[in-house]
Amino acid sequence: MTFVVVGGDAAGMSAASKARREAPDREIVVFEKGQWVSYGACGLPYYIKGEIQSLEDLVSVTPEQFREERDIDLRTGHEVVDIDPGDRTVTARNDDGEVTVEYDDLLVATGAESVVPSIEGTDREGVYTLGSMTDGKELREFVARSRESSPVEQPDSGPACHFLETCEGAVGIVGGGYIGVEMAEALAANDFEVHLFQRGDRVLKGFSEATSERVADHLREQDVALYLNAEVRAFDGGEAVEAVVTADERVEVEMALLGTGVRPRTDLAEAAGIELGPTGAIAADEYRETSAPDVYAAGDCAEVEHVVTGDPDYVPLALTANRHGRAIGQTVTGDPTEGGAVAGTAAVKAFDVEAARTGVLDHEEARAAGFDPVTETIEAKSRAGYYPEDGTVTVTLTADRGTGRVLGASLASGYGEGAVHRSHAVVAAVTEGVTVPELSNYDLAYAPPFNTTWDPILTAAKVLGGQL
Ligand code: FAD
Repeated sequence: MTFVVVGGDAAGMSAASKARREAPDREIVVFEKGQWVSYGACGLPYYIKGEIQSLEDLVSVTPEQFREERDIDLRTGHEVVDIDPGDRTVTARNDDGEVTVEYDDLLVATGAESVVPSIEGTDREGVYTLGSMTDGKELREFVARSRESSPVEQPDSGPACHFLETCEGAVGIVGGGYIGVEMAEALAANDFEVHLFQRGDRVLKGFSEATSERVADHLREQDVALYLNAEVRAFDGGEAVEAVVTADERVEVEMALLGTGVRPRTDLAEAAGIELGPTGAIAADEYRETSAPDVYAAGDCAEVEHVVTGDPDYVPLALTANRHGRAIGQTVTGDPTEGGAVAGTAAVKAFDVEAARTGVLDHEEARAAGFDPVTETIEAKSRAGYYPEDGTVTVTLTADRGTGRVLGASLASGYGEGAVHRSHAVVAAVTEGVTVPELSNYDLAYAPPFNTTWDPILTAAKVLGGQL
């Protein structure tokens, strides 16, 4: 009984490791086209920033550990080029040629790839994406090279470089999603003058408007030049990029980063006749089994079920990949386990602000799922008024007017002031179908250094309850 896995990161290695724990004698083969496995791409912005010293620090289990300690037949440098569900075989290519193995169970965990928009100049030197360890390495090398050739003089105090003054080293980031925002911090910390271009009218568009505004204000406070409603039309230059061009601006830069989203890597599955779902990612049932028998899909290449709408959704995030991979490892070793729905919970740090979101916030999306959405936003103190170091938390809460069910929330606070950890109470409410009055009666912890007696979540629920 051979369990074959395509893709050696979060989903793939979680499945392989779980299967090994459950079935010590089972043959497990993992094909990974690159050299890195079980890495935390989520840490790349902080590696580029310089807070994490080495790429190896982002690896949780090394290839040698998988091979020697977990007895997994891990084949790095092997790109799977064909899946044949009829013959139940997988063919992989490496430097020495091709190898075909038979599977009893197969997991497709091929992840996602960065979207490169079709605009002029994306192939110029100095235009980067950040979707892989190799991308991260190249970006850090760029930062090191650039800082070496034009070192910024550190003043005794204050920011090393202010973008309103002329300063060596301007960079352009295209896209105000979480990667764009995290990279603004990483590059500013290396004294680059950061220009962030966002096509829509706000950053972090999956969060509430109040969260977007708070993050945008803070980016500006940190001297990030933020261009909203600014669709990038081209990257000008010769061999290398020299400027980011929008309808209204031409901003000279020495580097441009595309943070324009990801798309599921589905080519291999599609070629094998495996069905995709309405989102364009691989469709899978509650056990993560695809349209091909005994072929499973998990992680950024696959669709998930949304816990609020019950509809297929595409939410490419790390916990889902790990969780669904683990469930598949259990299923293929004789204990059928559902992967579970997702609430679309996400968190991001933007300099000294943290933000989180969960559930459904967008009214159009809520209406399409049959709800009558109503939303309230409050701002409340993050700690007791008399306690030093107090700040504020902005909470947006959305519910269904008819039933009172909590549909979603978005929070922002100063970094370390609890927006992200507070969101977990709402994740529970959203997942369990709790109503606003029930949420407002949650027995949340209280002590002055952490919150007010009525935590901002409870206050938001009370205010929204008034609307209902
Ligand atoms: P991947 O991690 O993409 O792994 C897929 C693997 O499959 C790759 O190693 C690839 O080389 C391999 N592969 C592909 N095709 C083949 C083939 N044909 N043959 C063999 N191997 C193949 N998520 C969060 O939840 N929070 C965060 O803060 C966060 N930050 C992020 C920051 C960055 C910069 C990036 C890039 C991602 C971030 N993510 C974050 C997303 C998170 O990293 C992904 O959701 C997670 O890695 C998905 O795991 P996966 O196993 O599905 O796919």
